[in-house]
Amino acid sequence: MIILKTQAEIALMRESGRILAKARRLASEQLRPGITTGELDDIIHSALLAEGATPSFLNYQGSGPSPFPKSSCLSVNEEVVHGIPGNRKLKEGDIIGIDIGVYKDGFHTDSAWTFPIGEVSDEVKLLLRVARESLEKGIERARAGARIGDVSAAIQKHIDAYKFGIVRELVGHGIGRSLHEEPSVPNFGRAGTGPKLKEGMTFCIEPMVNLGTWKVKTKSDGWTMVSADGRPSAHFEHTVAITKSGAEILTVE
Ligand code: MG
Ligand code: MG
Repeated sequence: MIILKTQAEIALMRESGRILAKARRLASEQLRPGITTGELDDIIHSALLAEGATPSFLNYQGSGPSPFPKSSCLSVNEEVVHGIPGNRKLKEGDIIGIDIGVYKDGFHTDSAWTFPIGEVSDEVKLLLRVARESLEKGIERARAGARIGDVSAAIQKHIDAYKFGIVRELVGHGIGRSLHEEPSVPNFGRAGTGPKLKEGMTFCIEPMVNLGTWKVKTKSDGWTMVSADGRPSAHFEHTVAITKSGAEILTVE
């Protein structure tokens, strides 16, 4: 069942999303060679608590073998999603996906962005641009009366044009009182199919785009997903609300 939110509930999610975007900005301002993913996670954790929010991902059980042990998912280079922050030091030319979930006043928001560390190769620059644009194209199609498949097809069309790999194991999702709700929002599919979008729906659109193969595997930690060929992967995600006039992005400052 798809749970529609009231204006008042969407206002709570907007505040949760603002806190999320601020925490991401504070972490991104510290990105440089030599900083560890654990240090970045500490910045995010503190930023959320300072706003009276809690990290949705900390101790999240999901499908993992054990609860997720940190407050953010930080995924470097070939890591697609669900990287566990720790001792890994960033280097010039790396990319890092910062994925944050925020719980505040009964509602979650979820958003990710992939950043370059210093100068990255031209093909990685293109990967980041196309992945970000595919999110934008998906959001453009999200409006009352459209279908989930319209969003999926717009994302897929843009990524396919550059022959990058679209991750299929993981998809976007409804969000609200639960971190993961219906509907599923795949990054591939056919226009005109899937659930119809209605005012009050809130969901995450989150293309995961690989430079090489779309195939992924899970590392021995049971959480971190990596590209099967070890090539870089980018992830961009926003939580949006369907309004009278289109889709409002909630995960912005
Ligand atoms: Mg996320
Ligand atoms: Mg998500």
